[in-house]
Amino acid sequence: MKITLLGTGDATGTPKIGCTCPTCKAARKGGKSRRLRFSILVESEEGCVLIDTSPDLREQLL
Ligand SMILES: [Zn+2]
Repeated sequence: MKITLLGTGDATGTPKIGCTCPTCKAARKGGKSRRLRFSILVESEEGCVLIDTSPDLREQLL
């Protein structure tokens, strides 16, 4: 079984719109702080399951 974290951010992702905290500022510059909203892909010999998908799914799958 293989588990892939497609996104590890909170409900709004990082950077947050309008937020001026250091983490969001760094994320806007393309640093490691950028996080898509949370979702998981579980793959096994029986098939694949997407868990807790978000509107970021398209970008995560690409
Ligand atoms: Zn912030």
